Parts: sequence; C-alpha cells; structure tokens
Amino acid sequence: MATAFVTHPIYLKHDMKHGHPECPERLLAIQEQLVATDTLPRLQQYEAPRATDDQLMRAHTESYVHEIKSAAPQQGLVCLDNDTAMNPFTLEAAYYAAGAVVLATDLVIDKQVKNAFCAVRPPGHHATRNQAMGFCFFNNVAIGAAHALAHHGLQRVAIVDFDVHHGNGTEDIFQDEPRVLFCSTFQHPFYPYCGTDSGGDHIINVPLAAHTNGQAFRVAVTHYWLPALEAFKPEIIFISAGFDAHREDTLAQLNLVEADYVWITRQIMAIAEKHAQNRIVSVLEGGYALGALGRSVTTHIRTLAE
Ligand SMILES: [Zn+2]
Repeated sequence: MATAFVTHPIYLKHDMKHGHPECPERLLAIQEQLVATDTLPRLQQYEAPRATDDQLMRAHTESYVHEIKSAAPQQGLVCLDNDTAMNPFTLEAAYYAAGAVVLATDLVIDKQVKNAFCAVRPPGHHATRNQAMGFCFFNNVAIGAAHALAHHGLQRVAIVDFDVHHGNGTEDIFQDEPRVLFCSTFQHPFYPYCGTDSGGDHIINVPLAAHTNGQAFRVAVTHYWLPALEAFKPEIIFISAGFDAHREDTLAQLNLVEADYVWITRQIMAIAEKHAQNRIVSVLEGGYALGALGRSVTTHIRTLAE
C-alpha cells in the first residue's frame, strides 16, 4: 500500500503578507523538493475536501467557529493577534486544511493507503478550543484525532508533536480526554510559553533548552515519548509534523537535521507497526527555512513510504 499525499491549491491563497514566515512559498518549496527527488510518483495524491462544521466542532466550540466565520474579511487583512491574520481566502483554506486530515484519517483507517502526509496551511497546533493564535485557526490534527474517536470509534489515539513550539492548542483540546495521548517536544522557554506546568498521564510534555542537538533530542524522545506510547498502545498515531526545530530555521534555536527527522519517523513507524496496524497520519505544522523545510518534509515522507 502507498503513502497518501493530501493537499489543495486553496492553501496557496492564504497569505498574511509583510514577509510573514508562514507564507505560501512553504508549500511550493515542499512540492519542488518532492519533484526534484522523484518522490511524488511514489505517492497516492489526493485533493483535500472541505471539513464540515460538525467535524470542526468536535475540537472547537460552536461559538468559536461562528466567531472565525464572521471575522473573515471580504478584502484586505484582519489581524486576530500580532502574528495571525486572515485574508479573504484564509477561512476556506482553514476549512480545507482540516478536511485534509479528516480524509487522511478515513483513508488510513479504511486501509486504502498505508499512511498519509497532509501538506496543509494554515497550520493548526496552537489553535485552542476557542482561540486562534500563532498562525493557527482550526486545529487540524485535533480535528483528525477527534474524527478517529467519534466517527471510527477508536479508543486510543496518540498525537506526537515534534514542532519546535509547544502544541498548546492540542493540549487544551484534549486535556480532559484520556483516550488521547499527547506527546510534545518543544524549545523552552519559548513561544507560546507554556507546557512545563501542565501534563499528566496522557500529556507528555518534554521541554528542550535552546541549542539542543539531535542526539539530545533522541535521548529525550527515547526516555519520555517511547515508553508512554508503548504503554498506551495507540490504535492510530497522528504527527504534528513541524520542521522548525531544524538547525537552519532561524525562528527558533534547536539544531535538528534531516537524519533526526528520519530517526523520529522510524520510531513512530515502529510503534505504529506494533500496535496501530501501521496507521499514521502526519500533518504539516511549522518550518520556515524553505530549503530545510523542503528537504526535511521530503525525507520524512520518503521514510513513511519505505
Ligand atoms: Zn512551530
């Protein structure tokens, strides 16, 4: 079975302007590298569908979904916080980003593909149950995980998040949901300045100091994530796949390289093979150094497709 690659052209129209790092060129850089390495022909390509309001409201409050809809501008930009803005295409892009993860979840659980990567934007993991923040509007990975629980009736869903930023939105949405195990590594202290005083049985937060390298990252994952995943025995694993912990990414100060992304992908695949019938849905989050992003995503996808 193949690896699915789910994306949609509307993602390129969401543009926050003014040299914003979360820019349409990110997806073009990924596409370019997938073509250059002849990876695309190995993947099963899908166009994302639009998520329904009911699917969004498994992770977000009804009032928040209405709030985002009414905030969407007809022209120009509307700022929701210092670095999160909507243009006239943002709302639709956000619906289709969530829809990509719902489709990928269906494809993986229905065994139409081995696993899936969703090349989406806007990203999602900072969006809480009722707040847009940090470039995020709807929490794509959480909407997929909630779909696996509610629609497919799974009982144990893991979400692992190796973006350089703490997945505060995902934690917020599932803090009282023991059917979801959430594992996050993140630079600390760093935006969004949380994740060290929360946690518990099903929330595994692993703060990393600035300048942490790949070897120390691997030790931390081996020590904290893997035993938790092993004990939880997930039926599916979602990945909040941010690549902004790469050493070339100047937005943050961790020092991962492509080989570390291959390593973490293989660790997740081994858990998925043992407990989850190989089910993995990986969802793009951050990653702002375009060259490093293209190479890292490509190496991640090629590993998933092995
Ligand atoms: Zn990030």
